[in-house]
This record gives sequence, structure tokens and C-alpha cells, in this order.
Amino acid sequence: MSGSKTANGIFISEGLIRFRALCRWLGENPATLQLAEVRGKRWSFLDGDLPPDADRFDLCRIRISDSFGLLIYGGARLPADTIRNIRAVALRLYAFERYHSQDQLAAALAGKDDAALFTSADTVREVFCGREVHLRAIIEFSNICRRDCMYCGIRRQHRGVTRYRMNPEEIYRAARAAAELGYRTVVLQSGDECGYPLGELCTLIRRIKKDFSCAVTLSSGEKTFSEYRQLRESGTDRYLLKFETSDRALYRMLKPDSSYAQRFRCIRWLKQLHYQTGSGLLTGVPGQTDRILARDVCCLRSLDLDMVGIGPFIPHPGTPLGKEDPGDSLRALRAVALTRILCPDTHLPATTALATRDAPAREQALRCGANVIMPDLTPARYRQHYQIYPGKPQKGAPLGVRKSLEALIRAAGRTVGKDRGESIRMRRERGNG
Ligand code: SF4
Repeated sequence: MSGSKTANGIFISEGLIRFRALCRWLGENPATLQLAEVRGKRWSFLDGDLPPDADRFDLCRIRISDSFGLLIYGGARLPADTIRNIRAVALRLYAFERYHSQDQLAAALAGKDDAALFTSADTVREVFCGREVHLRAIIEFSNICRRDCMYCGIRRQHRGVTRYRMNPEEIYRAARAAAELGYRTVVLQSGDECGYPLGELCTLIRRIKKDFSCAVTLSSGEKTFSEYRQLRESGTDRYLLKFETSDRALYRMLKPDSSYAQRFRCIRWLKQLHYQTGSGLLTGVPGQTDRILARDVCCLRSLDLDMVGIGPFIPHPGTPLGKEDPGDSLRALRAVALTRILCPDTHLPATTALATRDAPAREQALRCGANVIMPDLTPARYRQHYQIYPGKPQKGAPLGVRKSLEALIRAAGRTVGKDRGESIRMRRERGNG
């Protein structure tokens, strides 16, 4: 447990810092924690305190991994939420030991031990996010886009697309339908530079927020700082801006008319403006090795995001990458699981792309770290024209979709989130998590 920074930007010492914070937080509590290195049957002191009259206390050992463990003196007297915190720290230490180097991450992505990876991710999700699955309604309000991403079915040069832009009243009605079905978040999604005057968008968002008391997430591409600020001031709670890959060469190939630097600048601006900020990845794009994907997951971690969407590449026949092989859903699930372990406070959807590529993968994602599902509530007449990739499930009436998702969530042993599913990271930073 050195305090040095690894090549991939992860501080191994973070687990130690959290451990010490927990020790401080325990304060006057009669319980005392020690971190120990475990070799065979021998537990050697690494960090923490020893009570002067240690013999009087019950001693509990928590094995974190093959090499580390926690000793708790007086643990039997601790309240349940303290034990939960200790468990969270233990899991964090476990994750840092198992999945901190790029070699370890790349090996996990190649399928070294899926059972251990998925079980760890599911446990981290249980401790940090609980059992709830949050349902967020997506309304794809415009498929107009100024960009030409090589994989995207609504790229500017794809002439086979019927372009549309829902008017404010249509978007408002779609948001009302979502609210009436019990959705507490609406996600307004469009191409980049959707052709909407900013003022009109701000007015609409204010109206939706006021009338439906829901959270509003916007996913509408790159904007200026001033535009992001105006949207934030109009009440937009969250913003999604996926970077897809952190590898510069691959980014240039996938997004030839976009700037890598500007993408990440925009993400920093969103955080600066206190949006609950989301980003994400495409897995299985041509040229993406396990090492590149490992670096992508590290990049997600270093961005310290509130939401992360991960989906496999699905080739669209009308795009330059239309003849390439699709991404493997199992590899996408491994990326979801690693992201859960490295970013335990992040909301992670079981994405529609996963369900499109491989229907059971959505439920599998719930079992390896995911805690959000985002069904498409775009009115049917527009939905067919928003095809970033082909084959999206068109599951019919919104009520039926909601009921089938609720059934899927229950079948996975989970519960449907009743609140807005705000940022777990922000809640924790405020000390309520
Ligand atoms: S991925 Fe986004 S920015 Fe790129 S072409 Fe598609 S909608 Fe536009």
C-alpha cells in the first residue's frame, strides 16, 4: 500500500485515506480499526490504532482480500450504518488491490475471472447504491446533428434519415406522459446542435421542472460555457456528454470533425457549473484493444462523474463503420463491472445498446453493477427516426414498457426507485450518504 501514483492515474493510497477518515469518524466510539497485511495466517499491522487496553475488547477480523484485512476492536457494539461504512472501506481496498493496474484491468476485460469480477461489482453496488433501480424516461426531441461521427446513424451526412425536431408543446406533453407514469427524471436527448434556440429550450425546461417536479437531464452535445450556464440556470439538473474513448487516435477516427480537447473541456465546464455530470464509453469499436478500454475506465474514474453510460458498438449500415463487427456484450458487461468497482458512487445504466445487442444483457448488467434503466418514451412517430444504431427495441406503449421493466427489476431481486435518484457522489460529499 504505497502512497505513489500509478501510471494509470489511480492513487493506491486512496483506500488508505478512506480508512484513516473512517478511523477519525469513529472518534470517541469504543471500536478501533486496524488495517493489516495478511500473509498466510499472519496478520501484520499496517495502519490504524491499537486501544491501550485491547485485551478487554472483542476482536473481529474482516478479510478484504488475499493480502489485506481489517481488525475491529469492539465491533460488536457498533451501529449497523457504521458497519456498513467499514464494509464500504473494505470493499474499496479490495477493489484497489485487485483492479488498480492497467494490466489487471486489461486482464479482467479479457475475461480472466468473470465470476469474481461480477460478484465484486454487485457487492460494491449493493453497499454504495443500495437495491434501487432508477428509471429515467428518455425523450429524443431532435435528430438534427452537425457532427459526422463514423458510427452514428444520425450523423449529418447520413442522407437516409428523416430529420425531425419536436416542438416545445410535443416535448412538454411527452414529459407529462412520463411524469404520469411515475418517472421522476426526464432525459431530453438530441444530436449535437439540435437547431433549438437556447431561450426556447430554457423556457421549456423551466416549465417542465415547475409542473412535474422532476429532475431534467439534458444530452444535447457540446455548447459554449455561457450556454451551459444558461441551461443550468434554467433548472437543468444533469448533463450527459459521452467521450466514447479516451484514446486520442481512436477518437480522431471515430469523431473526425470533433476536438478531443474540447470534449473534455466541456465535461470540466459541466462539473464547474455543478451539473450532475455524466459521460460514457463505446466498447468494441474497431481498433479498441483491452488496454485502451482499461485506460478508458481509468479516465472515467479520474473524471469523478455522477453518471456513466457504457454500451457496445452496434454497426449502422448507413455509416462508414457499417460493415465492421459489433462489440461483444460480455466485454461491455466487464467494462460496466470495472466501472462500478472503480467509481462506486456513480449511477450506471443498463444501457439500451446492451439490450439491443443481446436482450438478456440488460438484466445481467443489473447483476454486475448497474443501477439505472433509461427507457425510450419518445413518441412513436419520431422514435423510428432516432437510430444511432439499428435494432433498438420498440416495445410499444409506454405503460407496457414500464410494467415490463418493473417486472425485470423485481426478477433481478431489486426494487424500483421512487425518488429522483440524485447523484450519490454529491449526497456522500454532503455527508448524507
Ligand atoms: S454520436 Fe452524437 S454528435 Fe456524433 S453524429 Fe451522432 S448524434 Fe451527432
